[in-house]
Amino acid sequence: MKLTWKHFKRVFLGQKREHVATSKDNYFSKENSDGMFTLQYPKESFPVPDNGRYRLHNEIEDCIVCDKCAKICPVDCIDIVPVRSPTEIRKASDGSSVKMYASTFDIDMAKCCYCGLCTTVCPTECLTMTKTYDYSEFDVRDMVYEFSDLTPEEAKEKQVLFDDYQAKKKAAAATKATKPAGAKPAMPAIKKPMIKPAKPKTDEDS
Ligand code: SF4
Ligand code: SF4
Repeated sequence: MKLTWKHFKRVFLGQKREHVATSKDNYFSKENSDGMFTLQYPKESFPVPDNGRYRLHNEIEDCIVCDKCAKICPVDCIDIVPVRSPTEIRKASDGSSVKMYASTFDIDMAKCCYCGLCTTVCPTECLTMTKTYDYSEFDVRDMVYEFSDLTPEEAKEKQVLFDDYQAKKKAAAATKATKPAGAKPAMPAIKKPMIKPAKPKTDEDS
């Protein structure tokens, strides 16, 4: 009760406690925090460390749609549907060539266990864990974050373009395979040396 009244008095007099980062060694010491008490969230909140692992973000412009993050995820909460492009789409900010679109790039943060493995394997470092930790939802379906920059119509269009390209490529390969084998270059005719029949020997020759 004494402690409660003490803090009540401090709040009443507008004597807010000094903000000390959790990374400081003396964060929990009495001198600085003047005793631990419940933070008045969201007006007061713990500072977020720089290396904190909270909500994921994908900078889709830099994503090469390699699928490594989805493969390593232990809880299978990353869903990627790639659409290939016949040509290079753009360069990522680290110079990597982007040759695939992501018609779907969804991360279900309700399933995520915040292990951070997906960010460590990402070759372009476009997938990062942000400092956003307060994102509860009433509907669990709202915890699925969509990062694709294509509309369903655009994705369909890109898929048709790639299918056309593949069909043309296959047709060209088939035409090449069915062509009759080229005639062998004619060998130059070898002239046979004329062998004159030997003259029958006569008595004069001996
Ligand atoms: S942090 Fe871990 S669980 Fe969450 S999406 Fe990445 S790999 Fe999956
Ligand atoms: S690992 Fe990185 S580059 Fe590869 S698909 Fe995932 S986010 Fe994109």
